[in-house]
Amino acid sequence: MSGHGRVGAVIVGAGGGRRLGGVEKAFMTLGGQPLICHSVLAFETATEIDAICLVVAPDSVQRGQDLAREHGWKKVMAVVSGGAERQDSVRAGLEALAGCEWVLIHDAARPLVTQAMIREGLAAARAHGAAVAATPVRDTLKRAASEGRFPVIGDTVDRSALWAAQTPQVFRASLLRDAYIRVGAAASRFTDDGGLVQAAGFPVHVFAGDPRNVKVTLPEDVMMVESLLGTSNESVPRGAPRVGTGYDIHRTEAGRRLVLGGVELPSDFGLAGHSDADVLTHALIDALFGACGLPDIGRHFPPGDPRYAGADSIGLLEEARRLAAGSGWEPVSADSTVICERPKLAPHISAMRARLAGALGLPAEAVNVKAKTNEGLDAVGRGDAIAAQAIILVKYTRG
Ligand code: MG
Repeated sequence: MSGHGRVGAVIVGAGGGRRLGGVEKAFMTLGGQPLICHSVLAFETATEIDAICLVVAPDSVQRGQDLAREHGWKKVMAVVSGGAERQDSVRAGLEALAGCEWVLIHDAARPLVTQAMIREGLAAARAHGAAVAATPVRDTLKRAASEGRFPVIGDTVDRSALWAAQTPQVFRASLLRDAYIRVGAAASRFTDDGGLVQAAGFPVHVFAGDPRNVKVTLPEDVMMVESLLGTSNESVPRGAPRVGTGYDIHRTEAGRRLVLGGVELPSDFGLAGHSDADVLTHALIDALFGACGLPDIGRHFPPGDPRYAGADSIGLLEEARRLAAGSGWEPVSADSTVICERPKLAPHISAMRARLAGALGLPAEAVNVKAKTNEGLDAVGRGDAIAAQAIILVKYTRG
């Protein structure tokens, strides 16, 4: 508790990424983790904040809850489903933070929010009831007097009193709730909460935002934000190689299918697991993520997530390749070893190579699969488990 009443943060990430190729923006990978994580971390670690509510698309509530659990975020009290309009999402978040006296509304698409902004916004709201982060407009502003490719300038706008609004926007919670009630159905006309509060008749003040607190809207924003986060591959020259290794092991289980490298083998036992338990393909996926500097397979495809129950792991490898491509990396070659006592893999090796190579977008000769036994030693030797190791070479396609 801050001693001034409970402080809550609503992090809004329910919008799609229409201009980012249709991916769900809050969960797109940026700097090696889902976009929304950067904002949550800023609020989670700010001593002024007592509670956080994440507002995500209806289909992503489970995903948001999984993220909160995996990261061990203590302040995330609720992950709720957003509405059709931004203001419906804010309303849902406000409801979930009913016990808070102060509330900060923040767009998940602004991953560079700082502790200083959070502190300054709260100070401004405590003094005035409502305050929005903003930066003075620095460019000279021209008003166009015609349309087309080369419009004529009508006049130069006096910028001395102009500010560009950002989030967080900070309010006494009762004032923001009042404003929503007063504005009613017209709420959807407003693109930010500051505008809505003002239309409801309350004065809204400005506090110092930061020019770096940009919103990720266009594909080119991703690279700029990653470079500001210090996680870009900016210094990596085109064609640069990287390698990654992967390892996986699954217990054997009677009555399950045995799938290795995307090929179903004749066997009276299979491997236990949430997906199809294709231990070889899992090792390759982790090798690929590793080479690209991305989080591991469990982070991308959490075990226990119903979307991956019985999943075809070759499909996950294809998805991993897409994620790698999104970070600028493409596979060059791979090698792997399956360690198992039985069945004999030799007759199936070429089918596995073809399947894995297809998923990686490589010719079969660039993807090797080798088999060995564990000489009867340990769990693998007793036939209680099958393990796999993989290594992948990737090259950078940007730069
Ligand atoms: Mg596995």
